[in-house]
Amino acid sequence: MADLSKRERMAMERTPTPMRDPQERSASFDEVNLGYTSALAVLEASRCLNCKRPVCVEGCPVGVRIDEFVALVADGKFAEAASVVNVDNPIPAVCGRVCPQEAQCEGACVLNKKGRPIAIGHLERFVADRELERAEHQRVPRREPTGRSVAVVGSGPAGLACAGDLIRMGHEVTVFEALHELGGVLTYGIPAFRLPKPVVEAEIGHLEDLGVRFERDVLVGVSPTVEDLRHGEGFNAVFVGTGAGLPRFPGIEGEGLIGVYSANEFLTRINLMHANEPEARTPVYDLDGRSVVVIGGGNTALDAARAALRLGSAGVTLLYRRSRAEMPARTEEVVHAHEEGVNFRYLVAPLRFNGNDGWLDGVTIQQMALGPPDDQGRARPVPVEGATEDVACEVAIVAIGNRPNPILTKATPDIDTSSWGTIEIDAASGSTSIPGVFAGGDVATGGATVILALAAGRRAAASIDEWLQQGSPETADIGHCTSV
Ligand code: FAD
Ligand code: SF4
Repeated sequence: MADLSKRERMAMERTPTPMRDPQERSASFDEVNLGYTSALAVLEASRCLNCKRPVCVEGCPVGVRIDEFVALVADGKFAEAASVVNVDNPIPAVCGRVCPQEAQCEGACVLNKKGRPIAIGHLERFVADRELERAEHQRVPRREPTGRSVAVVGSGPAGLACAGDLIRMGHEVTVFEALHELGGVLTYGIPAFRLPKPVVEAEIGHLEDLGVRFERDVLVGVSPTVEDLRHGEGFNAVFVGTGAGLPRFPGIEGEGLIGVYSANEFLTRINLMHANEPEARTPVYDLDGRSVVVIGGGNTALDAARAALRLGSAGVTLLYRRSRAEMPARTEEVVHAHEEGVNFRYLVAPLRFNGNDGWLDGVTIQQMALGPPDDQGRARPVPVEGATEDVACEVAIVAIGNRPNPILTKATPDIDTSSWGTIEIDAASGSTSIPGVFAGGDVATGGATVILALAAGRRAAASIDEWLQQGSPETADIGHCTSV
């Protein structure tokens, strides 16, 4: 493969990954994408042109040296490829599976002009999975202990990335997580058919091996507060990565009817409380033979729709108020949802939920058309007057976005927040209005992506390191305990 000419490389088709059969998988929570074998990974990597200016790297929010790791895969040097990836990405087995590559590295790849970008995500997943299978992580060296300690609030990608960098910088790190399981949305949001939980557990396990301490079931803002962590418990700095877990609703009639869920609740019940299993103590409404509508067009909506299919619903229809072109969900998820039988209806928005004796039995929808662009440049949906329709359904799952939960910020009056409830930060450093308190990820941006949360966590770790090295009076000689 190594001696292929540029012309030959450019003529090669993109190598597909093996997938579970759509019919079989739509009744199972097993992972859909089975990943490359070694031979397929080498074949795909050998298409790379090793560009002098690797624009794929510019498309990666954390700057993974894609050209280098892909060249190593092409040479069969998989462990070396993993060590290149690990320098910039602490959770590559996750990102290889869930990043919106088409809008990032693969979107930037020169071969994208021909519609055949290198399958960078699949290759990243391949090298990371191989390391997990071999139970050998290519470690980044750890600095000498500094005696400084940092509290990280939230164990999602932002918190994990921040904790991973800080522990390698020689600081003591304790992560406080409100839930009984770690991983944030990676654990309670994204279903196992896209992101198997052992993958997330293994990535967290590496951080534990490095010395990061995890305290579960600690809701910061109730007990302890951020102030307690800084001054009572004596942590020298605090990073807040509490995400955006508060679901938004459209504010229409009938939202209180039985059968109307937020996607957060629906997916959390499945992922965290195993509602899909027969003996579940916190089940979801029995979907067997019932018709479901899902409202939204992002990854969360797609996950909810595909999960509802797997729970035996008679049919799932996704209602999205813009057209396919504006849909924010990852392309692969949209393709998979189509293959599995989810119906898509574009340019429609819910007007009201209809009920009978307190139970949902339908939704009235409004036809929309695309109007002028909004402040993000996306065509704004506008109602088509008089064009409404009643759609029968027994379950409606709302996935139209999230805001940060206000528990922590309400208990931290000195922290500046926006009108959306997000924490105001300096984008370059992650610093907040409180000295020594940093933040990043969805809690600062609103619902975004895993890789952006990860990048924010890493930026904040670098700033915290700098802050700790300055040795301000506040950070000096304060002991701490972790039992809160
Ligand atoms: P989170 O992952 O939300 O983690 C925050 C953590 O903080 C949680 O564990 C929470 O329990 C904890 N916490 C909250 N408050 C407190 C408190 N007061 N005290 C202690 N702990 C607290 N992005 C992608 O890139 N690709 C995808 O395919 C994708 N799919 C998604 C599917 C779903 C269903 C959802 C909901 C989101 C998806 N996203 C996806 C978005 C992505 O998961 C988030 O942008 C990312 O997880 C944000 O990371 P975070 O660390 O900021 O927050
Ligand atoms: Fe390879 Fe595409 Fe990156 Fe060029 S832009 S180095 S072809 S992955």
